[in-house]
Amino acid sequence: MTALNYRHIIMVGPPGSGKGTQAAILAEKLQITTISAGELLRAEARTGSELGKQIAAKIDFGKMVPPEIIVRAMLQEVAKPENGTGYIMDGFPRSMDQVGLFEEAISKEPYNNQNLQPDLVLLLQVPDEYIYDRILGRSQCAKCGEMYHEKFKTPKVFGVCDHCGGKEFTKRADDTYETVVSRLRTYRSVTAPIIPYYEEKGLLKCIDGTGPISVVSEKIRKVVGY
Ligand SMILES: [Zn+2]
Repeated sequence: MTALNYRHIIMVGPPGSGKGTQAAILAEKLQITTISAGELLRAEARTGSELGKQIAAKIDFGKMVPPEIIVRAMLQEVAKPENGTGYIMDGFPRSMDQVGLFEEAISKEPYNNQNLQPDLVLLLQVPDEYIYDRILGRSQCAKCGEMYHEKFKTPKVFGVCDHCGGKEFTKRADDTYETVVSRLRTYRSVTAPIIPYYEEKGLLKCIDGTGPISVVSEKIRKVVGY
């Protein structure tokens, strides 16, 4: 196959677009690390570090973590020597504020000699109906955490977890119609403005995110060229 050109990839898409799943598949193919902003913040908060305490103070009270803190946590992670060959960022940057702070930081000491500039921004496009379907239809095995979906991934035997035989299924507390409406609204007003910005820089590629996971990852494979 062709040489791998893209090593610094940003995944963008509305909630429920499947970008976390696709980021994980791509990371495995390219042998680089996925950094999920949400997971990273929660993990950092658990370490009890000075930065972690600042994050926990916000998360625990349901407040937004300020962009300066998110950017610091992301930079700390992407600059780790073991992540030196590249990154796939999932859920970051999520606003123009974050884009500005990130670009400023990677162009200065101590990060400017590490080549952390993004070279590809993948936008997963999915219509709203799809997002409601995907998020509202999902549930999780209460025992082992396996994810299911009433349309796209039902257990082989109705009501019984394929993985552990569990018979109890739960929904995530924030997978409600109201939260999807509000998350989509935030995505449009806060996150979507980064799309034309990256398009102007020539970094943006759009992917149709509808259809089965394997179909979408095949479309990504063609764009990335691995
Ligand atoms: Zn289970």
